[in-house]
Amino acid sequence: MIIMVLNCGSSSVKYQLFDIKKEEVLAKGVVERIGLDGSRLKHMTEKKDVFIEREINDHDEAIELIIKVLSDEDYGVIENIEEIKAVGHRVVHGGEYFTESSLITEEVMQRLEECIPLAPLHNPANIMGIKAIKKILPEIPQVAVFDTSFHQSMPDYAYLYALPYELYEKRKIRRYGFHGTSHRYVSKRAAELAKLDYNQAKIITAHLGNGASITAIKNGKSVDTSMGYTPLEGLVMGTRSGDLDPAIPVALLRENRMNPASIDNLLNKKSGVLGISGISSDMRDLEKAASKGEDRAKLALTIYAYRLKKYIGAYLAVLGGADIIAFTGGIGENSSFIREKSLEGLEFFGIILNKEKNEKARKKEVDISAKDSKVKILVIPTNEELVIARDTQEIIEKEGK
Ligand code: AMP
Repeated sequence: MIIMVLNCGSSSVKYQLFDIKKEEVLAKGVVERIGLDGSRLKHMTEKKDVFIEREINDHDEAIELIIKVLSDEDYGVIENIEEIKAVGHRVVHGGEYFTESSLITEEVMQRLEECIPLAPLHNPANIMGIKAIKKILPEIPQVAVFDTSFHQSMPDYAYLYALPYELYEKRKIRRYGFHGTSHRYVSKRAAELAKLDYNQAKIITAHLGNGASITAIKNGKSVDTSMGYTPLEGLVMGTRSGDLDPAIPVALLRENRMNPASIDNLLNKKSGVLGISGISSDMRDLEKAASKGEDRAKLALTIYAYRLKKYIGAYLAVLGGADIIAFTGGIGENSSFIREKSLEGLEFFGIILNKEKNEKARKKEVDISAKDSKVKILVIPTNEELVIARDTQEIIEKEGK
């Protein structure tokens, strides 16, 4: 069964085409700069990579081009577009409506629209992608897989802020959490690798990419996570501040004559390790700069690892210990330095790293815990697209589509 997975952003559409029975990726690619100068498609298959530069004005045109390329005589991977049985979409925000992935119906579309105030940058792009498919392939079933739904299992004492309760009742201000698809995939895979029953395990997953979040998972359910009402809360990230005293933006508004948009930009785009180091948001650049003795790069790495360690400690408390700590995302999968620093000093919890294995672990599934470690420490490359494809298959089969 062939399933297309789409991740629609405001000016980009990423896609993967799966033969889901074999769990094989037939083709993948991205359309970038939609509606801007220099719009282009990059398409990759086993056999060759193709670049097409041309005007692409909107998501309809982007998806039309993707479909054309997928069935192209020269570089396509299917003969006929009808071979695609369903489309799975990454949808950022499902609010409190969606606790799991869902077949897209008129009612679901309405809910997605209602979630726009919660994710004003992301949900509109996801909706555009769904509408484009509906226009181009009206009969095809579509499934939404939400970044937030895995975290809907959090108890109220973990998801509520200490704000007037009406803000939750009237404006739905609460912790939602993000990266749920990744935390779900990595935690399940971690339990498999550790040969533990997922439904009885205590797992901490650290998704460390450009955005970063950490989740406490108990008996197969997310019980707390570091991102909150928006993806700004929690860990230090590439350009996002993570946790800070909420009085700081208010002080900046008052004293520096900043406005909401510039504060938003400061906290989301200019902070994090970029803000501290003044060098880069990219962990590779910072590790290089730190090794050359740049003090602010060293400081950025130290703060990043320290804050991660604080959350690991917090979630050990939440879970009453852990069976597994799993690292994923570009940094989690590659940076032995950050993994080591964030676990340093946690030996008394039974968290003991095998430094040699950690040093070598890159981009593949590896157990990096020492023999005498009570807690398994794993590196697990995430695969959100595979989860979306699997969920899509499961849902359309269940619904008899
Ligand atoms: P992602 O958003 O998951 O693609 O992750 C992006 C982050 O992963 C960036 O900060 C990269 O610097 C980081 N990253 C990728 N490869 C490496 C590497 N070999 N060592 C350290 N960080 C890396």
